[in-house]
Amino acid sequence: MTRAVLRTSLAALLLTCAVRTPAQNAAAPKGTIAIRASRVLDVKMGQYRASQIIVIEGERIQEIGDAAEIESHIPPGAQVIDLGRATVLPGLIDCHTHLTMSPYLGAYRALSLSVPREALLGARNARATLEAGFTTVRNVGARGFADVALRDAINAGDVPGPRMLVSGPPLSITGGHGDINLLAPEFDASADGVADSVPAVIAKVRWDIKYGADVIKFMASGGVLSKGDNPALEQYSPEEMRAIVATAHGLGRKVAAHAHSAIAIRDAAEAGVDSIEHGSFIDADGIRAMKQHGTYLVPTLYLMDWFMENYPKMELTEDMIEKARVVMPAARQNVARAFREGVRVAFGTDAAVYPHGLNAHEFPVMVKLGLTPLQAIQAATMNAADLLGWPDRVGTLEPGKLADLIAVEGDPLADPSVLENVKFVMKGGVVYKNQTAR
Ligand SMILES: [Zn+2]
Repeated sequence: MTRAVLRTSLAALLLTCAVRTPAQNAAAPKGTIAIRASRVLDVKMGQYRASQIIVIEGERIQEIGDAAEIESHIPPGAQVIDLGRATVLPGLIDCHTHLTMSPYLGAYRALSLSVPREALLGARNARATLEAGFTTVRNVGARGFADVALRDAINAGDVPGPRMLVSGPPLSITGGHGDINLLAPEFDASADGVADSVPAVIAKVRWDIKYGADVIKFMASGGVLSKGDNPALEQYSPEEMRAIVATAHGLGRKVAAHAHSAIAIRDAAEAGVDSIEHGSFIDADGIRAMKQHGTYLVPTLYLMDWFMENYPKMELTEDMIEKARVVMPAARQNVARAFREGVRVAFGTDAAVYPHGLNAHEFPVMVKLGLTPLQAIQAATMNAADLLGWPDRVGTLEPGKLADLIAVEGDPLADPSVLENVKFVMKGGVVYKNQTAR
C-alpha cells in the first residue's frame, strides 16, 4: 500500500475510532494535513481563537490562524480533518510519570518483576498515557534503564506512546527512598541507583547519562511508598546535592529532586535543581529559595484521592500506609500555599501510584487548591515545556513546533475536568485517537 493510500484509508477509519496498530504509526508522517477547529486555546495569551485552521507538514505545524485567511491556500491534496465543535489545545505534558511501573504490584510482588517485563508493562502504559492526551512525559525513575528502552521503542515507531525524557535509575542513599528496603540482609539487595558520598554521586550521574538518561532524578528526602524511611527527613547532604547538580548540568542534563521534607526542598533548591517533585512539606524557607532560584514545583496531588480509596488492594506495608495518611493531606495544604505565593508550577502526577491514563484528574485538584484553570493548563503545556528544556518543540501551537495537539468537548477554562476525556490526539503529525463528534 502506498503511503497516500494508507493515509486516505486511515482517514476513513479515524472518523469513528482510534488508530491502534503500531505499524500504522511507525513511519514519520509525510504530506500535509489541515485541521479545522471551531476554537483553539492559545495557552500563552490565555484566550480562545475561534474558527481556526492548523496546517501540518510532516511532523510540524506549518501555519495556524483564522480559517478565513488560511482556507484559500491549503495545499491541494492536503488531508482535511474537521474536529467539529471540539476545543483544540497543545498536547499535554506530564513532568512526573513512571511508565514502567503500575499500582497493584504491591510492595513485595513488584520484586518478582524482571526489568524486561517492566519495559513491556511500560509499552502498555505508554499507550494509555498517549490516548489520555499526554503527548510528552518526563519519566523520573525506572529500574535497569527500562525507560530508555521504552523511549527508544516509541521513537522508532515500535510501540505508540508519548515523547519521553527519561532519568534511568534515580539516585538514592543506601536505605533511601530509591533503594530496595524490603529484603533481609542475606539477600544483599540494593537498587542500581544507590550512591553515597560526593565521588559516588558524581560517578552515578555519569553512569546514568552513559546509558541514556535525558534528565537526572535523585531522592532528596525519604518517601511514602518505600519501607522504613522518613519523608520528613533529608536524604543526601547539601554537598552531595551540589555535586549531583554540577555534574548533571555540566553534561547538559536538568535535575529533578524528589523532596517531601521542608529542609530537603530548601537545600535542593539552593543546590540549583531544576524542579522539586511533590514538595509536600514546603514551608516559607522553601518557597523563598524556590522563587529565588526559579525552581519549578511539580506537585502530585490527585494521587491521594485514588490512593485512599484503593490502598487496601495494593498490598503495601503498614508503615507505607501510615506515611501516606500524614504526607498526602499535608501536601495539599502546603502546596496550596506555594501556589498562593507564586512558585513556578509544572504539571506532574506520579502516575504509577494510580493507573496510567488518569493523569488529567490532576487538573481539577490544582484548581481546587488555588490555580486558575488557565494556570493549570499552562503548567501542563508551556511551563512543562520550559522545565523539560523543549520550549522550541512542544507546549504551544505555533509554526515550526511539533504537531502535538489534542481536542476535548466543552470548555476547559470553565471546567478543567473536561480534560479527563480527550477525544482527539495527534503526536508529531500522526493521529492516535479521534472520537470527535461530527
Ligand atoms: Zn515518583
